[in-house]
Amino acid sequence: MIFSKEEIILAYAVEKCPKCEKLNRRDFCKGDVLFNSSSKCTFCDGITIIEKIYGETLQK
Ligand SMILES: [Zn+2]
Repeated sequence: MIFSKEEIILAYAVEKCPKCEKLNRRDFCKGDVLFNSSSKCTFCDGITIIEKIYGETLQK
């Protein structure tokens, strides 16, 4: 197994509310699946959908 201490990978999920079209970026949680319904929209009573999952690599 190769483990590098030089890289930190951060995963994010972007949630989008289909009702008011607000986007919310949050930390990726285990079990998140693309286009699954996620959490309740904080702006309206809609349910957000995970639109994007991506990771960022930070190099020291
Ligand atoms: Zn909304």
